[in-house]
Amino acid sequence: MNIDFNKNNDGLVPAIIQDASTKNVLMLGYMNEEAFLKTNETKKVTFFSRTKKRLWTKGEESGNYLHLVSIKNDCDNDTLLISVNPEGPTCHKGTDTCWAEDNEPNFGFLSQLEGIIAKRKRMSEVEPELREDKNSYVVSLFDAGMNKIAQKVGEEAVETVIEAKDDNEELFLNESADLLFHYLILLKAKGYSLKDIAEVLEKRH
Ligand code: AMP
Ligand code: ZN
Ligand code: ZN
Ligand code: ZN
Repeated sequence: MNIDFNKNNDGLVPAIIQDASTKNVLMLGYMNEEAFLKTNETKKVTFFSRTKKRLWTKGEESGNYLHLVSIKNDCDNDTLLISVNPEGPTCHKGTDTCWAEDNEPNFGFLSQLEGIIAKRKRMSEVEPELREDKNSYVVSLFDAGMNKIAQKVGEEAVETVIEAKDDNEELFLNESADLLFHYLILLKAKGYSLKDIAEVLEKRH
């Protein structure tokens, strides 16, 4: 890997530390060539600490190591993106990230959709006359209750099964989307989210 350690005339390059599974940014540190080589050798992320003025293996006191997954150079070889599996909280202040964020899994657009569904559920808890949107399908499902929601998941599952046996790809994709959408509503109605299910799956893994 051809890293430009001397762009700032100090032998250091910034290293962005990213969680390999959640993709969240955990912290930023600096590496000199020695730190880079040691990180590759030990598979524990080691920086050059500008305050300590020495090599610093993250976790050397706390035990909160950053286990190396991969290192990528950027487009002009002056910034590293380091993918890790963190052991414990990354920030010395005790938070998951150095920006005081939780390092939770996020499922991109599906998480956004979960947020919208959560809003509709809260709307269903308001009296009908006071609702902003009186024609929301999702609100009407929450109004109808658990049995109706669970039944919809069953229906969409059956439709997905039927389309799986056929060779109309578009219908299969649409029924799969219906199934996932109604399943997210069912999870919310039960008080859960995708994260809870991912945790169950992870424990089995
Ligand atoms: P650790 O490397 O986790 O054993 O922490 C040792 C020391 O390094 C701490 O007391 C802090 O001074 C510093 N430190 C640890 N984690 C961070 C961090 N994420 N950002 C900046 N400094 C840190
Ligand atoms: Zn760059
Ligand atoms: Zn920090
Ligand atoms: Zn359907």
